[in-house]
Amino acid sequence: MSTDTARRLWNEAVETLSRDALRALQWQRLQRQMQYNHDRSPVYRAKFEAIGARPEDIRDFDDFARIPVMTKDEHRRVQEESLERHGSPFALMACAAAGEIVRINATSGTTGVPTLYTLTAHDVAIVNEMHARKYWRAGIRPGHVMLQALTLGMFTGGLPLSQGIMHLGACVVPVGIDGGTRRVLDIARITRPHAIVATPSFGQYLIEEAPRLTGRPATELGLRWFFCAGESGGSDPEIRRVLAEGFGARVFDHTGGGHAFHGISCDAPGHDCTGMHFVSEDHCLLELVDPHTRASIPLGDGAVGEMVFTFLDWRGGPFMRYALGDLLQVWTEPCVCGMPGIRFTILGRTDDMLTVKGVNVYPQAIANTIFRLYPRVTGAFRILLDRPGPRVTPPLRIRLEHGGAGPAGLVAIERELTTLFQESLRIRPQFEWLPPGSLPREAGKTRYIEIAAR
Ligand SMILES: [Zn+2]
Repeated sequence: MSTDTARRLWNEAVETLSRDALRALQWQRLQRQMQYNHDRSPVYRAKFEAIGARPEDIRDFDDFARIPVMTKDEHRRVQEESLERHGSPFALMACAAAGEIVRINATSGTTGVPTLYTLTAHDVAIVNEMHARKYWRAGIRPGHVMLQALTLGMFTGGLPLSQGIMHLGACVVPVGIDGGTRRVLDIARITRPHAIVATPSFGQYLIEEAPRLTGRPATELGLRWFFCAGESGGSDPEIRRVLAEGFGARVFDHTGGGHAFHGISCDAPGHDCTGMHFVSEDHCLLELVDPHTRASIPLGDGAVGEMVFTFLDWRGGPFMRYALGDLLQVWTEPCVCGMPGIRFTILGRTDDMLTVKGVNVYPQAIANTIFRLYPRVTGAFRILLDRPGPRVTPPLRIRLEHGGAGPAGLVAIERELTTLFQESLRIRPQFEWLPPGSLPREAGKTRYIEIAAR
């Protein structure tokens, strides 16, 4: 690795590979990975057997796409079976020997029992590199101080992120948010961070609370970068604008925790970046599939599908055709910022999807639409359902906060919002207004949906 801090990319050699060269590298790594997974895990061996093939029979990416996906539910079942039969959660899926595994991460567990994944020192080094690639693109260099204001117990927003920042050579302050907002602000005052990593909603909360708790606006924290993590709100241009103005900082959205799928947005001037640049393609093969039929969807510009990924050159618990339940849109045309690589936008969870009169709607799309009227609305809202989705009997009920308008103003806002919803989402919700500050602010991931009796 060059120590030249003026270079634009952390790993110029890999990050600027042509599409063809990258695909060739992926294929070479995939062949080795298939053999490795097949030989070391009965679960993966069964995946090959399901299509009557051995790794050497898989001749190209299309062949590979015939292997059945692994879902999170299936992963959970395998984990339980592994515990029951072998007394270890990894016996069936982990491919490295127990003595080589140096870290266990878990998913956040918001949708059930956490699923575990395992890393060897080799895998940890890959994760560290991916964090370094992302922050380097945004302009972070050794000497910068980064405040890590996430729920550290979320695993991937915790230690793996701290280690990645340290790997780049920057200084991390893993303050966490579990000690409260005042503590984050106190630590910020005495450590003088250049950058903060936080959820967009915590960022908005800091902008609201800084004047009360410190007597000064959030702009005086001196932050030059705000990195959105842990929530999808950071992909919304309006939310980014609020954060940029509130902190006087450049705002980036990024994703990727303790595994091999990592991306970061760009902030080319005058340009709302569409999606995040995918920085880890040399270690993560991305596919899109139809969420219902699981048929492959080609990765064309603007293609939408459920994300399926396969880790490449991975030793601990390598995921193979793993469907996490995230819906993705992919952009393959070059970005105006000049940074290399394809981009993606996370549209939501396939199981968050609501269907209103045959129209598919994602809570994040609702959040983005409401936020277009900020500051006349605060952006806080909940979707109220009589029973769990996806099917919703119209109208879709949305409880949301206005920004302090009187009754007459509210009528005008509601009219405008109704038009926005009809134009961009093709639904006509029923709005229930609340005064600003009525809905609880969550420091971690905000749950937009509430199941409530009518
Ligand atoms: Zn870009």
